[in-house]
Amino acid sequence: MLLQEKREELIAVAQQIQKDKLVPLTFGNFSLRDFETGYVCITPSGMLYDQLKPEDIVVVDVDGNHVDGDRLPSIEKDLHCAVFRKRPEIGAVVHTHSTFVTTWACCNKEIPTIVAEVAALVKGKIKCAPYALCGSQELAAVTAEYLKEDDAILMANHGVLVVGDSIQRAYINAVIVEEGAKVAFYAEQLGGMYVFTPEECETERLSANAGYGQR
Ligand code: 13P
Ligand code: ZN
Repeated sequence: MLLQEKREELIAVAQQIQKDKLVPLTFGNFSLRDFETGYVCITPSGMLYDQLKPEDIVVVDVDGNHVDGDRLPSIEKDLHCAVFRKRPEIGAVVHTHSTFVTTWACCNKEIPTIVAEVAALVKGKIKCAPYALCGSQELAAVTAEYLKEDDAILMANHGVLVVGDSIQRAYINAVIVEEGAKVAFYAEQLGGMYVFTPEECETERLSANAGYGQR
């Protein structure tokens, strides 16, 4: 089977994200790029992740043309492909409707950066791309455009899109962004939230990217 290991890797992450309760039912989608072939493996539309088998994963090229698989791909296939085309260095895209990020997105509000983990992913704030219909070309274009060089972007009245160099990294980033949205939500209720200055954000970003974890 074409890219069997990649398909299995994608399913494992989709199931983990659901276990973490970042995706209600099938309201999210996941993809990874195989850098050797340039192909993209993406979850099928509307199928429960705990029942997915490798043959359910759809393989497309970076322009969204069908390569392999009998299932219909996620309705957000064009969104994932638009992001892969715009950001040649990224290896995976995770889209969720997790509760706290979606809450901010439904208020069309950018999320202020108040913790180091989030500062490592975005320049300044987690921005919000304008609303467009689910699965539309317009959503694909506007979300890819607003993402720019960040690793996360809110999608107004919809959810969030997060990227990473690998599917594991994109998964970790999706957890960080949801936790960051939750903390910012509570901090705002408490009052007196201190928001990092752009300089502090940049210092945190460089420091996290240079020196956190095992090397
Ligand atoms: P799919 O099940 O087609 O991936 O759609 C879910 C979704 O989140 C649409 O935005
Ligand atoms: Zn969605």
